Amino acid sequence: MKHEDIIHRCFRCGYCKLTGDYDDFNCPAYRKFRFETYAPGGRMWLIRAWLNDEIKNSKRFQEILFSCATCANCVKHCVFPFSEDLVNIFIAAREEMVNKGSIPPEVRDYLKNISTNGNPYKEPAEERGKWAEGTDIETYNGQEYLFYIGDVGSYDERAKKIARAVGNILIRAGLSVGILADKENPDGNEVRALGETGLFQFLAEQNIALFKDLGIKKIITLDPHAFNAFKNDYPELGAEFEVYHYTQIMAPLLEAKKIPLKEFEARVTYHDPCYLGRHNEEYEAPRRILKSIDGLELVEMQQNRENAFCCGGGGGNFFTDILGGGEDSPNRVRVRQVLDTSAHIIAVACPQCAGMLDDAIKAENAENSLKVWDVAEIVIQVLA
Ligand code: SF4
Ligand code: SF4
Repeated sequence: MKHEDIIHRCFRCGYCKLTGDYDDFNCPAYRKFRFETYAPGGRMWLIRAWLNDEIKNSKRFQEILFSCATCANCVKHCVFPFSEDLVNIFIAAREEMVNKGSIPPEVRDYLKNISTNGNPYKEPAEERGKWAEGTDIETYNGQEYLFYIGDVGSYDERAKKIARAVGNILIRAGLSVGILADKENPDGNEVRALGETGLFQFLAEQNIALFKDLGIKKIITLDPHAFNAFKNDYPELGAEFEVYHYTQIMAPLLEAKKIPLKEFEARVTYHDPCYLGRHNEEYEAPRRILKSIDGLELVEMQQNRENAFCCGGGGGNFFTDILGGGEDSPNRVRVRQVLDTSAHIIAVACPQCAGMLDDAIKAENAENSLKVWDVAEIVIQVLA
């Protein structure tokens, strides 16, 4: 297994499951199950025992391995030099399981739907660009930027609204953007996180070839997950394009007053998506957008930026739900952290976070006091 030589170096000291100031537990899997085996150090111990044939593969072991949300809290807070590889070690162990065909049924179904239907929703490819109907967003024909949506923004009803908000703002700002519509393929970020590296490579090479064919040099993504794959994993497979998360494009446009905005009196907190924040260290662009709206009061949760608590949707859990629900599910814990701020809007910059936190607000019976809006949905509300 890749990174096998590192596993024995873990001391199981446990710093990795905490915030940087040791204030609270910040590994969503540990926080939910409260067994050391779900914490990063416990996972390392378990994987080592499995590789040494001291334990057998089992349904329970699979659930433990696939419950990691790849949130990278452990990467940021393990005190040892191998910390950078922690998530990669967990993915490598999943890869071993995928190769042996012993994976949870939810993971198997997700991967099968991506490879046979081209999306996890079992929808036809023609549906992919339908979210843009009724907008001025055109199919890509040489525009300066490709606006890449991803599976969630293309098919999930809630996320389609976010895609329309971002697309409409970019057009309003005068940017030259086009979409691939039914030619768009999955980016594969979750495929890789779930350990199906062969399928990930196939998707990445297919996308790189399509982008080259169309002469695409600059990409704006809706979803931080696609942003992460394009920025960090595609270059070693031959990708040569610039990639931006939409907040990175929108923040300077708003600060330069290229899009006039009305005042908006609201108390808002911002939830950092793991794949924009910890994985790519973009903490400020979404906050700069929110701060450019007069009247909006931005309040921070105790756990923010590098210490943000994951919504539980990463690492494929948005689709597989292996972390599961209940009072200690990460999305509900996060909503309770929001309620402590007395904000009445949670701003997000990820369609997967939006879905996870929407569900949690319902489960916490907080619908009357709290709403989830993507940063772009707030901007759309206040366009002058
Ligand atoms: S992964 Fe790092 S911080 Fe976590 S238990 Fe192991 S050595 Fe300690
Ligand atoms: S990546 Fe996140 S969920 Fe996975 S073990 Fe590390 S802290 Fe826990």
